[in-house]
Amino acid sequence: MRPFDFYAPATVVEALELMHQHKENVAVIAGGTDLVLELNERKANPAVVIDLKKLKELDYIRVEEGVVRIGALTTHAAIAADRQIEKYVRVLHEACRQVGSPQIRNLGTIGGNLAQSSVAGDGLAACVTLDADVTLRSVRGERRMKLDEFLAGEGATRRNILAADELLTEVSFALPDIRHTATAFYKLAKRKSLAISVIGGGMVATVDDNGICTYARMRAGALGRYPMPFPTCEAHLVGKKLTYATMLETLPIMHDQVLEANKSRPWSVFYKKESVQGVFKKVFADVLHQLGLEEVQE
Ligand SMILES: Cc1cc2nc3c(=O)[nH]c(=O)nc-3n(C[C@H](O)[C@H](O)[C@H](O)COP(=O)(O)OP(=O)(O)OC[C@H]3O[C@@H](n4cnc5c(N)ncnc54)[C@H](O)[C@@H]3O)c2cc1C
Repeated sequence: MRPFDFYAPATVVEALELMHQHKENVAVIAGGTDLVLELNERKANPAVVIDLKKLKELDYIRVEEGVVRIGALTTHAAIAADRQIEKYVRVLHEACRQVGSPQIRNLGTIGGNLAQSSVAGDGLAACVTLDADVTLRSVRGERRMKLDEFLAGEGATRRNILAADELLTEVSFALPDIRHTATAFYKLAKRKSLAISVIGGGMVATVDDNGICTYARMRAGALGRYPMPFPTCEAHLVGKKLTYATMLETLPIMHDQVLEANKSRPWSVFYKKESVQGVFKKVFADVLHQLGLEEVQE
């Protein structure tokens, strides 16, 4: 680890000013579960490190007028323990519940997970599945955008479009109406604890009073640079009665899409094109169970 100057501001405004002042070579640190490894391995060599942990104003989970708002400094453990998230937003509850280990979940933050934008980020895959918005702040003001745009929009660097002096302050999404909408996440990993996702599959599905699918969104992490969308599978479900049989009809489409997208990775594609289907079978079963439509025996 190379030496650096260290600041621990007490307010977001102070943090943004410091970031702007040192933007040529600055890194912010939240839980440090990613950054400390990069500092130790000298993959990150900032001249200035700004610790965000005193910014209690960014540590919250609120539901306001049908919108769930989560501050960037909220830990995976806090999200996983939140009763409302568990009941209404299963995709995020499951993703955060399975991050790393208790120690990593107690330190690691949702803001760090999104800002890191790792291929295998579980919080990221869940939030993209929810079509979440992120709020970014700098001394120039605030901007809000869809996570999809945050990841790959105009001006995106290796990870995302965050500027060097910009903080991710909040992630937000519509509170699902669980009478008609279910969300689910299944993580396939090499073991149960301290394992990064081999595939992290998420789904949001909405049905009307007759069980007809009116909305479907499916994403899978660790299959490409960003959580992979499955628009053809979603289109296949919308307008049809949501049953396990109908959902299974999407699996060959998914198989072909994963094969096509990962052709350049022959060492993993044969495994991933098969296992993505197993992951989504679990996701489908959970969605149908939550909606009270069908109990699937596997
Ligand atoms: C043993 C181990 C197991 C892990 N297992 C998993 C796992 O199962 N699933 C998973 O998804 N991840 C896993 N991780 C990765 C990591 O724990 C998560 O990505 C975590 O959410 C990162 O959050 P953090 O607060 O620790 O980020 P930090 O390490 O503090 O920061 C990460 C990056 O984001 C930037 N950053 C942090 N907060 C902000 C902000 N608010 N605004 C702008 N930039 C910011 C930092 O500058 C840095 O570049 C694991 C890590 C370890 C070490």
